[in-house]
Amino acid sequence: MIRTLRLSWLVSVVASLALAGEGKWTPQQVQQLGAAWVKQQGFTIPLDEKLLSNAVQLPGCSGSFVSKQGLLITNHHCIVSILQEHSTPQQNLVKDGYLARTSADEKASKSYRIQVPRRFLDVTKDVLDALPPPTPSPQGASSPNLDDLQRYKSVEATQKKLVADCEKKPNTRCTFAAFDGGLFFTLTEFLELTDVRLVFAPPSSVGDYGGEIDNWMWPRHSGDFALVRAYQDGKPFEPGAFFPLSTQGVKENDAVAILGYPGVSFRAQLADEMAEREARWYPNVRALTAEWQAIIEEEGKRSPDALIATADDLRSILNTKKNAEGQLAGFARGKILEKQRAAEEKVKVFAAKKVEFAPALEAHAGLTALNTERIQTWDRDFLLDWTGRGARALQWPLLVSRRSVEAQRPDVEREPGWQERDLPRLRERHERDQKRYHPAVDQRLFVSWVKRALALPKDQRIAAVDAVFGAAKDDAAIVKKCSELAAASKLFDLETRKKAFDETPAQLTARADPLLNFALALDTERRALRDRREMQSGRVLRLRPVWRRAVIAEAGKLVAPDANSTLRVTFGRVRGYSPKEAVQMAATTSLAGALAKHTGEEPFDLPKKIVDAAAGKGVVPAKVPVDFLADCDTTGGNSGSPVIDAKGKLVGVNFDRVWENVANDFGYNPEVARNVSADVRYLLWILTTVEDAKPLVAELTAAK
Ligand code: ASP
Repeated sequence: MIRTLRLSWLVSVVASLALAGEGKWTPQQVQQLGAAWVKQQGFTIPLDEKLLSNAVQLPGCSGSFVSKQGLLITNHHCIVSILQEHSTPQQNLVKDGYLARTSADEKASKSYRIQVPRRFLDVTKDVLDALPPPTPSPQGASSPNLDDLQRYKSVEATQKKLVADCEKKPNTRCTFAAFDGGLFFTLTEFLELTDVRLVFAPPSSVGDYGGEIDNWMWPRHSGDFALVRAYQDGKPFEPGAFFPLSTQGVKENDAVAILGYPGVSFRAQLADEMAEREARWYPNVRALTAEWQAIIEEEGKRSPDALIATADDLRSILNTKKNAEGQLAGFARGKILEKQRAAEEKVKVFAAKKVEFAPALEAHAGLTALNTERIQTWDRDFLLDWTGRGARALQWPLLVSRRSVEAQRPDVEREPGWQERDLPRLRERHERDQKRYHPAVDQRLFVSWVKRALALPKDQRIAAVDAVFGAAKDDAAIVKKCSELAAASKLFDLETRKKAFDETPAQLTARADPLLNFALALDTERRALRDRREMQSGRVLRLRPVWRRAVIAEAGKLVAPDANSTLRVTFGRVRGYSPKEAVQMAATTSLAGALAKHTGEEPFDLPKKIVDAAAGKGVVPAKVPVDFLADCDTTGGNSGSPVIDAKGKLVGVNFDRVWENVANDFGYNPEVARNVSADVRYLLWILTTVEDAKPLVAELTAAK
């Protein structure tokens, strides 16, 4: 049940009665917007809590139940880990796909989890009541306060307590989230389903048709969908709600809604903070990922092993790189900074006129000052953060050393993510990562990071790097040192790493493993960075809500908060768009377009069975829908999200945005805000015409 938000400042707010494309609304906000508003968006069914709860959270993705017998739909790219788990050199499920014709053929995953929301709680009062009384600020509210760290720690302690209490129930996972930098807080209670079995995945030449070339692009022709079945106590799980698949589909201008768990967006950031993203974050991400791409591709050409081991990492690196490029292009095209500055000026003028919002001006100054402060050590902090991706020679020893330090503390004092409740997920990484490790690639990724660290300016040095690599005067010496460290380390061995994961810092030191010692030293610096950030986050918790309150009051209507991996709903219409002058994109694609792209060469190599079926009697490829666009407000994490029509039938599975819309994370632009979904009629066509899987089709289309 939804405990109504106790936010007096919202009560007086009148919901805008415009057609909404913009807005990743919380379930509570959908209630506040009201039934009349939802109807105005074109919906003939109420979007009540039972219906919304059918949007489930998956690792990094979203999904929804599509039958009474626990059948769940998501994207092909969201279940690649299950396909990898069951692939052998003889049978590559990622490449070939899979269809379980009977329940006995379904393939269980060892680690895939589905989180089904059970309760959405507003816990703002719990958090605020526990806060220590504020101490006066000697240099004014915009400067650091003595109690900033305490505030952060208090919120973290409340979070851990709420989560621990909530997870006392069996098979329960609970997540805590802050909205608008701490304006309000929620706790979502999920039923966790761990018995998940693969039912259907198309070959990657359908699921990922067009590959990296078409990624973030339109027109698109991917059948990016997959089906798994959830079990509970050995029987198919019976969901509270499910979305039967529509055989009617959608057409231009039809109303749709998307339910899911968008990860993160940045619209509430100040223009200065956005400028940091544009000037520093994305250019550096682009440069780093481009370098990694070159390394991986070069090694891949040299060795087929490297190609297999790094396939998934490469895909994710390329996705990150293209995303960074799209964000940068979008910043310029959408004039995002200029727009945000102008919007901020309006809020400042508004706040200056109203006594109750006057503190917002100081909050704005405080957030701006904090941004400037962060920039002082930006390059160093960026590199310390990016030890989490790239070389396993950094990731693995850091994982082990961090775990050993955290394990010294009582469970309640450990950082979120490192508590007992998190250990199964951390342990699963060992084996999964091992498959992705290739020594030659890893060595070069390690060198690339070290070289960047050695090139840091004088006032931003990483002491641990200088201590180990300081004597290396040229590239050859750095390469030599990196390979010596890796060669002397036992951590690349899976069993050794698993064992080291449960050792104390003293035991780790006694191993006299030079790479591990380097990581222990590096971890100390990363911890210092985390401590600094906790203090800064305490400041943000103090300042951002004050600023946001003024922003929302000035808007005079409900404002959807930035994405934070909690359940959101976005309403839109099926619509094409114009990416540039004289070019008009249609809203839908079909199998005819997929065939037109087919060259037989990856990534445009439709499977023979699809090509043959398309040429079959009675099949009109132009009448087999494949993908469609809508102007819904989505971002990363919305992959696999159900796209429902006005009657609550499933018409699509969201999987991407168009290139011109990548930067919507910083602002919604109705002209180009288009999300890309796979049309479920393509899935039904494949299952019927290509696979002859009638029972599955019957299950997918059965009425409620
Ligand atoms: N492709 C994204 C995802 O994986 C969706 C998006 O960024 O629009 O969640």
